[in-house]
Amino acid sequence: MEVTIGLSNLPLCSISFLQKFFAAMHEEKARKGFFVTTSFFADTAYEYAKDKNIELISGTKLVQLMRQAYPEYNDDTVDVMCLQCGDIVTFDLALQDITRKYCKNKHIVENNIYYSDLFKRPSRSNSIRYRKRRI
Ligand SMILES: [Zn+2]
Repeated sequence: MEVTIGLSNLPLCSISFLQKFFAAMHEEKARKGFFVTTSFFADTAYEYAKDKNIELISGTKLVQLMRQAYPEYNDDTVDVMCLQCGDIVTFDLALQDITRKYCKNKHIVENNIYYSDLFKRPSRSNSIRYRKRRI
């Protein structure tokens, strides 16, 4: 079966990308398309894809699929940067009670990221403070 795969890493994947993608699917005579983004799809994108045999894979779904495919690499830690010196401190999100640690220069580094935050739309305020590791 012919399939076409689209990729995007823009903050929010909107309908205009899918229109171009759907045109490419027609050109390739693909019967199914997979459109993958590391971020999120707009609600209108789901509406658009519904009857066009386009499967939308959001960043959240991508993480789930990767965790299924590579269970040995599941990792519930986040790296938080010390705002005073830039040192990186790792917090294990499974241990919700630990919200403060010290960096190598003895500054207090606070983690305000919870496990549930990893599956929400990123907000400007905390997205620059952490990066998810190894998933
Ligand atoms: Zn520090």
